[in-house]
Amino acid sequence: MSKYKPTIGLEIHVQLATKTKIFCSCSTEFGAEPNTNVCPICLGMPGTLPVLNEKVVEYGVKLGLALNMTINKTSTFYRKNYFYPDLPKGYQITQYAIPIASNGFLEVETKNGKKKIRILRGHIEEDSGKSIHTGDITESEYSYIDFNRSGVPLMEIVTLPDIETPEEAYEFLVLLRKTVRYLGVSSGDMEKGALRCDVNVSVSKGNKLGTKVEIKNLNSFRSVRRALEFEIKRQIETLENGGTIVQETRHLDEKSGETKPMRTKEELNDYRYFPEPDLPPLVLTDEYIENIKKTLPELPSEKEERFVKEFSISKEYAHEIVSSKKVADYFERAAKLTKKPKEVANYLMVNIMSYLNENHLEIDEIPFKAEQFKELLELIESGTISKNIAKQVIDDALRSGKSPKAIVEEKGLVQITDEGAITSIIEEVIKENPKPVSQYLSGKTQVMGFLIGQVMKKTKGKANPKTVSKKLIEKLKSLK
Ligand SMILES: [Zn+2]
Repeated sequence: MSKYKPTIGLEIHVQLATKTKIFCSCSTEFGAEPNTNVCPICLGMPGTLPVLNEKVVEYGVKLGLALNMTINKTSTFYRKNYFYPDLPKGYQITQYAIPIASNGFLEVETKNGKKKIRILRGHIEEDSGKSIHTGDITESEYSYIDFNRSGVPLMEIVTLPDIETPEEAYEFLVLLRKTVRYLGVSSGDMEKGALRCDVNVSVSKGNKLGTKVEIKNLNSFRSVRRALEFEIKRQIETLENGGTIVQETRHLDEKSGETKPMRTKEELNDYRYFPEPDLPPLVLTDEYIENIKKTLPELPSEKEERFVKEFSISKEYAHEIVSSKKVADYFERAAKLTKKPKEVANYLMVNIMSYLNENHLEIDEIPFKAEQFKELLELIESGTISKNIAKQVIDDALRSGKSPKAIVEEKGLVQITDEGAITSIIEEVIKENPKPVSQYLSGKTQVMGFLIGQVMKKTKGKANPKTVSKKLIEKLKSLK
């Protein structure tokens, strides 16, 4: 297997999160009643004229800059001609010769460190309508068309074939989605079609590139990875068995995890691209581009690096925390307020994130804010509660919305620091566990953990484990 090198390219359609379509004022709202967000322009009626949405240009430039691309001060629109029922004009308006942005890159984390994946171009274009087929994907019984999506703005991002493994493709997509969300230029929701990915893949021995196969209609990042894993294996096996790879378009059968050939609307097409006569070239000034540059937020990889440096948290935690801008903002606020970033990161990743995942909540929907974090960490600092109990308090606070102080008071969770009280519980435990005690005295010191556990149980976790351990050892020694 290893003598073959896979070469992978991605074509990603990012739906730009403007309120209205690219060439008309129809709403882009997702999930509206079919064919309600339409007008003569996006339905391609004769005699209508497109007017470019300024917000689309702004978002396109923003995304281009964030992907380290050159913004082309003059770009042009073309007609891409093909016939398909969901394309009412008979052509799609897109950018061809000169796109709005070109030559960029994203740096992804791989097993061998950071890797630069180059991006060839990013162009803005209109979406087509949506065909809904009943029956099998290859043999539809009926087809329905919803034109709500027709004219929704997209930015197509095309990578150069720098990606060599399914994992790298996956990481690239994850980082791209993070980036568009940080910028606020797209929701990045694949299930809503706001991010769509086609891949092309070939395998080769030596320097000559193999025959490219395209895989379309991948509906999740995981599907991208699965499809690539299967397709690379299939191509290598085909070649090893003396076969040849056919240049074709395939799709992933989600059930079997196999890729299968599909018929597409674009096969053997000559699109007869020509300049769109109804739209002048898009001309941007340096000042316009500079002004957008100024509005770029700190991007995920920059934030990750800063968090490691500024707050001394682990790279792994920083990576997880910045995966959502909301979580990153939450962390930063709590870290600054408490001045205990490591503790915040720990409770955030271990306790709070799992609660969010289990309950399908966003971090801004929970009552446990940065201020509550401060209160909680002060309770630990002052010795009022143990670190163990702190977890219980977070759990309670997440559910009840009460303040940590109120929970500690209400439930009597105050740490037992009174040595006398601890000593009497230790005496009880020793009396109740003669066997482990004699084992300990005969040198089996590993029963210590069990005895500490018994004391902690009796105090409902409220005793300071260090004090318990110290007192227990003293007591046991006195028995020798
Ligand atoms: Zn319209």
